Amino acid sequence: MFLESPPPNEDRLKAGDTFRFSCHRELSCFNACCRNKHLPLTPYDILRIKINLGIHSDDFLARYVAYRPDPVSGFPILSIKMLPENAVCPFVTPAGCAIYHDRPTACRLYPLGRSSGIDPKESTSKEFYTLLHITHCDGLKEDKVRTVAEWVNDQELLPYIDMNDKMLDILFHPRRDPSTPIAESQQQKVMVACYNLDMFRKFVFETPFLKQFQVDDGTAQRIKTDDAALLIQGFAFLKNALYA
Ligand code: SF4
Ligand code: SF4
Repeated sequence: MFLESPPPNEDRLKAGDTFRFSCHRELSCFNACCRNKHLPLTPYDILRIKINLGIHSDDFLARYVAYRPDPVSGFPILSIKMLPENAVCPFVTPAGCAIYHDRPTACRLYPLGRSSGIDPKESTSKEFYTLLHITHCDGLKEDKVRTVAEWVNDQELLPYIDMNDKMLDILFHPRRDPSTPIAESQQQKVMVACYNLDMFRKFVFETPFLKQFQVDDGTAQRIKTDDAALLIQGFAFLKNALYA
């Protein structure tokens, strides 16, 4: 789960700090947390789930994603669309998560929350973890103890953190005017370059994009088939489109 603001100092966990948690099928709360949630989706989350499901980005966005613009920044906020009949995540099954290998960042992080950003005074990146106290989660009463660093490693969070922080570089870019939301035309660019990679690939290869952005041959070959490389190109395109 992401945190909208940094936790107070006393709640911040460092890499070596420990917490108790274990989630397994024998718990009476098994699957209970996969419902009634605002479950945020980052560009890298969408990339991974879309590949897992083997569908076009357009279909993924239409079937599984709820969207609204952030009232302050104007940036799109995407989340998993819970099923209308019972408010359950569309990916939950009696045996657990159907997309477990590619589950989103928030599900991997749980029971931790993470916030990160650039310290304007030091121009360095800072991150904080905190333990979420969810009353219905019996996993927090289990005996298994681990460190934050072990959890990040076990949950294969590093590629997610790396890509999510690249997105934060755009959200908190020094040239962004925090008092004005981005325009609708800019929102559309963000939607395509970050969240609709199949459409962005078409834009890259069917317009003068490669020439205009001086993309070298090696990168052009890579982004034809590698969605992660294409997303990084999308971030570069957005920095230019929004802040040049
Ligand atoms: S232990 Fe917590 S995370 Fe696991 S199923 Fe229960 S509520 Fe969900
Ligand atoms: S994506 Fe998977 S782990 Fe996350 S809420 Fe849905 S079913 Fe649960």
